[in-house]
Amino acid sequence: MATLFKDVYIQDGSRAKAERVHLLVSKGRIEQIIDASQTPPAADKIVSGRGHMAVIPGFVNAHTHAAMALLRGLGEETALMEWLQTRIWPVEDKLTPDYIYWGTLSAMLEMLASGTTCFADMYFEMERVAEAVLGAGMKAALCRGITAGEPGKIERSLQNNLDLAKNYHGREGLITVQLGPHAPYTVPMNYMKLITDSAKTHGLGVHFHFLETQGELGNLGMSAEDYLNESGLLNTPYTVLAHAVYLDPAITLPDSVSLVHNPCSNLKLGSGVMPLTEWLDKGANVALGTDGASSNNRLDMWEEMRTAALLHKGVKRDPVIVSALDVLRMATYEGARAFGFSQKGMIREGWFADLVLVNLDRPHYIGVNEENLAMYLVYAGSSADVAGTMINGRWIYRNGEYPTLDAEEIVSKAREARKAIIN
Ligand SMILES: [Zn+2]
Repeated sequence: MATLFKDVYIQDGSRAKAERVHLLVSKGRIEQIIDASQTPPAADKIVSGRGHMAVIPGFVNAHTHAAMALLRGLGEETALMEWLQTRIWPVEDKLTPDYIYWGTLSAMLEMLASGTTCFADMYFEMERVAEAVLGAGMKAALCRGITAGEPGKIERSLQNNLDLAKNYHGREGLITVQLGPHAPYTVPMNYMKLITDSAKTHGLGVHFHFLETQGELGNLGMSAEDYLNESGLLNTPYTVLAHAVYLDPAITLPDSVSLVHNPCSNLKLGSGVMPLTEWLDKGANVALGTDGASSNNRLDMWEEMRTAALLHKGVKRDPVIVSALDVLRMATYEGARAFGFSQKGMIREGWFADLVLVNLDRPHYIGVNEENLAMYLVYAGSSADVAGTMINGRWIYRNGEYPTLDAEEIVSKAREARKAIIN
């Protein structure tokens, strides 16, 4: 089935300005983009933009823990280590595979309604997360969070992560799987080496929390550069380092390594501000993510884009740095690329039709044009402007409805799960 977006603006992180076009989607991909002055191609379904709609790439939330939506609001206004140890970890012990399934689905409802087409998730019971993702027709990069504990725990978690990869990596073109060592403070160095070796052997990427807080840097027992070298993280097929607030940008990272900036979560936990400007100046791969809903507390990539663009201007007292285009590219293309999704994150012929339909027929878009659309989206826009979210050419969210999901059941089951883990 072909869908025509008739007379819409298109904008992505690679276009200095928007274009007004007809965009045809067929067989899950963007088949044709032609100027809006030309006769539109035929299609089964037509979305008529009349110059008041924009189509942008679907967001890739490059670091989250979706099921933590069930833990939202716990231990508010506490520092990371205290928050984890006293409020989060004890409650996580009560999570069952079912609770994780419904919690993930409830997070997916939030993400889809705000234009996210793909999320990078680190958690446990990931088979249930994969089931939720495949059922909805969403995309996700999944890893099992691996942490030390009783003897044999890391080995079992690693095996579980490898089984996840065997069963789900590449499934239906919707899922990629990474190995997920949690952080330097939860995985000893000898195991980091074991995990990165395993990533190499199996051709998998690694998703890792690195230097979210200043204390972690002091506890590494070596420099960050030595840690990255010794752990093998620079020699995997690819590595994604979440947070990297205290990673000194003097280090040169190989192209296989991407960073994920999580500005809202880092601000809320008082962790600090990643030196994003320096990384962008060096041409490093930097994606954007929300982190879990219990430390953000939103799963809204519009909020991350706006915060990232504003925060660094304020910190550096420079209104020119971290442009609207920079954050739009980070929120879409860079996230897809970091997690092994190709032809995703730009509006180009032949690329996957993972798209967000944005309603520009609203008061805060008065004055929008080809030159300023990216700025309007980032500085004036919000997730409330999302009229539809399409993945592989299929609507997964449209005008408040979820064609592939039973939203009412999900909210009710997630509410029950929340009650059960708190009581
Ligand atoms: Zn995290």
